[in-house]
Amino acid sequence: MERKNAWNTYTKEQLAELNNINEKYKSCLNAGKTERECVELAVSMAKEAGYRDLKDVMTAGECLKTGDKVYAVCMNKMIALFRIGEEPISAGMNILGAHIDSPRIDVKQNPLYENEGLAYLDTHYYGGIKKYQWVAQPLSLHGVIVKKDGTTVKVSVGEDENDPVFVITDLLVHLAQEQMEKKASKVIEGEKLDLLIGNRPVEEVIEELTSVDKGDKKSEKAQAKESIKANVLQILKEKYDMDEEDFLSAELEIVPAGKARDCGFDRSMILSYGQDDRVCAFTSLFAMIDIVEAKRTGCCLLVDKEEIGSVGATGMHSRFFENTVAELISLTEGESELKVRRTLMNSRMLSSDVSAAYDPMYAEAFEKRSSAFLGGGITFNKFTGSRGKSGSNDANAEYIAALRKAMDDDDVAYQFAELGRVDLGGGGTIAYIMANYGMEVIDSGVAVLNMHAPYEVTSKADVYEAVKGYRTFLKM
Ligand code: MN
Ligand code: MN
Repeated sequence: MERKNAWNTYTKEQLAELNNINEKYKSCLNAGKTERECVELAVSMAKEAGYRDLKDVMTAGECLKTGDKVYAVCMNKMIALFRIGEEPISAGMNILGAHIDSPRIDVKQNPLYENEGLAYLDTHYYGGIKKYQWVAQPLSLHGVIVKKDGTTVKVSVGEDENDPVFVITDLLVHLAQEQMEKKASKVIEGEKLDLLIGNRPVEEVIEELTSVDKGDKKSEKAQAKESIKANVLQILKEKYDMDEEDFLSAELEIVPAGKARDCGFDRSMILSYGQDDRVCAFTSLFAMIDIVEAKRTGCCLLVDKEEIGSVGATGMHSRFFENTVAELISLTEGESELKVRRTLMNSRMLSSDVSAAYDPMYAEAFEKRSSAFLGGGITFNKFTGSRGKSGSNDANAEYIAALRKAMDDDDVAYQFAELGRVDLGGGGTIAYIMANYGMEVIDSGVAVLNMHAPYEVTSKADVYEAVKGYRTFLKM
C-alpha cells in the first residue's frame, strides 16, 4: 500500500503550526526528563488550561458537569486528566494513554563509595538498554531526596550549561583487546555502570568550615580514609542539607545531559533523550488541552513503569485509574459500581507508544511492507507482542475501521505497522491491560529511530500528525 510522506501535504499555515508544536514539544522534553518531572509539567499545563485537582472538587463537595476539567495524580508519577463530555460518562470515554517513564540508570539505595581516589554512585539500570551506549558521555542526575522529617529536596544537576556533569567511564581502546572480543551484551556489564562523581579530597572545602573547628582536627580529616567521598558528602550537605543515610529514601535517575535538538540540515527531525514514550505522552497532552468540547468524556492518562512491566502503584496494572473513574462517576451520575464497569467497557482507547521506525542501516531487522516510516504520520499497530504475537492486544477490525474513517475525514496521515521482522524480538505496551475491561484499544504512536538509545530520533511531521490524530480521536 502506497502511503505518502506527510511533509508533501502541508500548507504554509500547517507548517507554521507544525513548527510551533515541535518547539513546544522540545521544551517539554527538556523540562520532563523523569516521570516526576513530567507529572509536574502536566499538572502546571493542566492548571493553566483550567483543570482542577479532583481532590479539591471532592473536598468542596461539588459535582461535575459537562465541560468541567479535572486531573488526578498518583504518587507524583502518574496522572489522569478528564474533560467531562456531553454524554454521560458511563456511555464511555475516549482515552489517550501513554507512558512517561523512559529507560535510564537509577542510583542504588547505598550508592556512595570511594575507590582509589575516585568517588562513585553505585547504580542499577532501569528498562531495556544496550549498556555500552551509556558510557563516555555527559550525564545528568535528576530526582528527589526525601528526608525523615518528610521534606522533599529536588535534584537536577547537569542540565544548566554552568552545571557540572557526570560520566560512566569506558576502557581505553589501547587496552581493550580483550574487551573488544566480548559479546555486545558483555562489553559493559551492569555493575560497571557506576557514575563517576568526584576526585578531590575534603581538605580545601573543609578549610573555611573548620576554622570554627579545632585547627589540628583539620589535617586529621584531610588524611582520613575516603576523603574524596567525605568531600562529596560535604557538598551534598551544603547543597541539599542531606546526610549519607538520606540516599535510602532518595529516587535519583541518571539520564543523558543536554537538551532536545533539531536533527538534520533540513531540521526535519528531533534528537533527544526520552522520546519513548514522551513523544506520545506530550502530544496526547497537547491534544487533550486543545480540545475544549466533545460529545464523549475525554481522558489523557500518563503512566509510569511501562518499561519494567507496568507494575506497582503507578504502573498501568495499578487500580488507580479504575478508582479515579469510580470517583468521577460518583460526582456525575451518582455512586454506582455497575456504572464504573460500564464506563470502562464502553470506552475506547489509543494506547500510544513508540514504534520502531524502518532503519535502512539495519534493513535486515525489518519487513518493509509492515514497517513504520519516519514522516509517514501516526502509526497504528493491530498487534504488538513477540513470537507469534504473545502478550499482545488485538485491536478489533470494527474499531480499526471507525478509526480509519475518522482519521481520513480529518486528513490525518497514518500508517499501519508491526514491530520489526517476525520472530526477531518484540515488545509490549499498556494496551492489553486496559483491554481487560472489554474496551476497544489499539496500539498507536510515533515512529522512532534508535529507540531506547540515550538519544532517539523522531520526525517533526509525525509529532504533528500525532497531535492531529489525538485531537480527532478525542472528538470521535
Ligand atoms: Mn514505550
Ligand atoms: Mn520502551
